[in-house]
Amino acid sequence: MRTILFAASECTPFMKTGGLADVIGSLPRALEKERGTEVRVILPLYEEMDAEWKDQLEKVADFTVPVGWRNQPASLHRLDHDGVTHYFIRNEFYFGRQGVYGYFDDGERYVFFSRAVIEALPLLDRDIDILHAHDWQTGLAVAFANIMRTDIRTVFTIHNIQYQGWMTHEAFSDLMNIGLEHFAGLEWHGMINCMKAALFHADKITTVSPSYAEEIKQPYYSEGLDSILNDRAVDLIGIINGIDTDEYNPQKDPYIYAPYTSSRAKKRENKRFLQRELCLTEDPDVPMYAVVSRLVEQKGFHLLERILEEFLQENVQVVMLGTGDYAFEQSFAYFANKYPNKMSLQLKFSEAAARQIYAASDFFIMPSKFEPCGLSQLISLQYKTIPIVRETGGLRDTVHPFNEVTGEGNGFSFANYNAHELLYAMRYSLLAYHREDLFKPLLKNVNKSRFSWKDSAKLYNGVYAELVPS
Ligand code: ADP
Repeated sequence: MRTILFAASECTPFMKTGGLADVIGSLPRALEKERGTEVRVILPLYEEMDAEWKDQLEKVADFTVPVGWRNQPASLHRLDHDGVTHYFIRNEFYFGRQGVYGYFDDGERYVFFSRAVIEALPLLDRDIDILHAHDWQTGLAVAFANIMRTDIRTVFTIHNIQYQGWMTHEAFSDLMNIGLEHFAGLEWHGMINCMKAALFHADKITTVSPSYAEEIKQPYYSEGLDSILNDRAVDLIGIINGIDTDEYNPQKDPYIYAPYTSSRAKKRENKRFLQRELCLTEDPDVPMYAVVSRLVEQKGFHLLERILEEFLQENVQVVMLGTGDYAFEQSFAYFANKYPNKMSLQLKFSEAAARQIYAASDFFIMPSKFEPCGLSQLISLQYKTIPIVRETGGLRDTVHPFNEVTGEGNGFSFANYNAHELLYAMRYSLLAYHREDLFKPLLKNVNKSRFSWKDSAKLYNGVYAELVPS
């Protein structure tokens, strides 16, 4: 038996800002079903975590964490949820704040957390064989493990290479407590870069789709890290994310109006309900296009912004849910004000609103500039909502363009980062919506799409087995 410790900055149902939380909340359970592997998860204890969870925490121990010249107090807490043991590290100074990210000292907060993970290892209920860290926030845990605990092997997963955890070089002497000979491993262009540190130190590197694993070796997608990824290419593998199909299940989703499996009539009921809720024209025949997303450049909103005026001249409805860059919020608010019966914009983060939109809509728009994996298109397929995507990263690996000649494909896609290619794909989807001979085979393919974690869990287990045979 080998024991894997997942270290991450977010995890459903405790704290979520995006897809990372979904992965950390569901992959360990799938891995626990694999023979020979046990998983523990370790997370920061955020102030905003619901009392429902906080009340269930069981204190394990107090300990201290060296951060430069200071010793920060910390405590370790345990919570068993859905068959997986989760540990939480508490420190009021760093995590007794609102929200998750966005503080001037985020770098220092996650240096602390990364070091705390290593200091907490002797306090866990199992000896850990492999530390599996996720994204820059836990990148330094990989470095510290490699430097301080040579008995532990390490895996690092890139969920999004755009966010790397840069700090000025002084952070090394101010925060790290490791010898100067380790500076080069953490340094990138004269600064400290937490993701680069992990890429340098990890035994194995994974990312969340095979296409993205290839893309990030190219300068266009690598955000400056292509040289190190090419150096490490033999240890880099892309494994597609799954979703928790019990959790995202339109048949038993507590948030939606009319539960369904694949009934179009029921989906129309959900659409009518949402139209009423959002004060759109109540007509279930009108095709509804959805967006549930962070409103940031990565997601391709410059393209959508450019063609929305033209697209809204059609008999369609557009429903958006998200928060993010002020400029996008303002520009989409302009369209929602101009076309109140056709377009709705909700500027908030709400699980309930998201599920209602997935259930009610006919199409899901995701024209990402880059997309490591993307979970929203998988959730939308699960809710029988047809994705319209740009062919990049995980979108390319999971959404296959409909071909009316062969009848293959579970969505619509376009290749270039170009607004009119998006408009063309959206217009084609509209045509298909009104042609039963096209829409029926398309929906059939959507119904057949499967994205459970089973196959990917096997691939992860293969990576672990290479490092520590059971
Ligand atoms: P990313 O992790 O880059 O934000 P993903 O597609 O991998 O994108 O995952 C996004 C996740 O966050 C999905 O579960 C999606 O439904 C959810 N989500 C995004 N924005 C919102 C929102 N405003 N309200 C509720 N859920 C949201």
